[in-house]
Amino acid sequence: MANPGLPVPAHPLLRALILLGAPGAGKGTQAKEVARIYDVPHLSTGDMFREHVARGTELGSRAKPIMESGKLVPDEIVLGMVEERVARKDCAAGFVLDGFPRTLPQAERLEEILGRLPLRRALAVNLLVDEEAIVRRIASRRTCKSCGAIYSAGAKMPRVEAVCDACGGPIVQRPDDREDVVRQRLATYNEQTRPVVEFYRRRSQLLELDGSKDIAAVQHELLALLARLHQQ
Ligand code: AMP
Repeated sequence: MANPGLPVPAHPLLRALILLGAPGAGKGTQAKEVARIYDVPHLSTGDMFREHVARGTELGSRAKPIMESGKLVPDEIVLGMVEERVARKDCAAGFVLDGFPRTLPQAERLEEILGRLPLRRALAVNLLVDEEAIVRRIASRRTCKSCGAIYSAGAKMPRVEAVCDACGGPIVQRPDDREDVVRQRLATYNEQTRPVVEFYRRRSQLLELDGSKDIAAVQHELLALLARLHQQ
């Protein structure tokens, strides 16, 4: 549900908005809501892989053991999937990327792909949260197996226990949200994804937000930032 206090955007997004941050920094939660408010697609590569796993596709069976180990799926698989997706008509007014790019080659290739689309310069927003807070957050995270809606034990749980408010699907803990896998995902992030943050910083395409604040506060700052940027 939208927070009634949120500003309604007076302008279309018209760009790729890239949400960066460690696993559990709040990328998925924020990306879904911003995409909904701007009425553009929310493209989560993690969700795309989970869908493939659920459908039992060949791509899904290649990705599953890698995901469950906390490592990254090879670039060429991710890139093929993203390239096909952003070429679709519904991405013409912009889109929100969540969990992509995660390596330097992905970031470089994304620039080439975006160069072919009639959009404004992409913007990366890095959500900053410290690691111990992340481990705690992810340990309490629960996810709808059907639609990917995100819940949190203690903070935001469904009205009916273990049943998704949005679609009625079952709410579970993602297999890669177990603490040992989370620590591996953080190591992968530090090694392979931190350089992506620096890539966008060098290109002056990076803004950073304190992701440790509550969901509504981060959302408010993110929307205000997009509105300011549009006026420039
Ligand atoms: P996420 O839901 O974004 O945390 O993604 C879950 C898992 O999917 C990751 O831990 C990776 O194994 C895989 N994955 C998602 N996005 C990417 C990406 N851009 N590059 C490589 N692997 C990815």
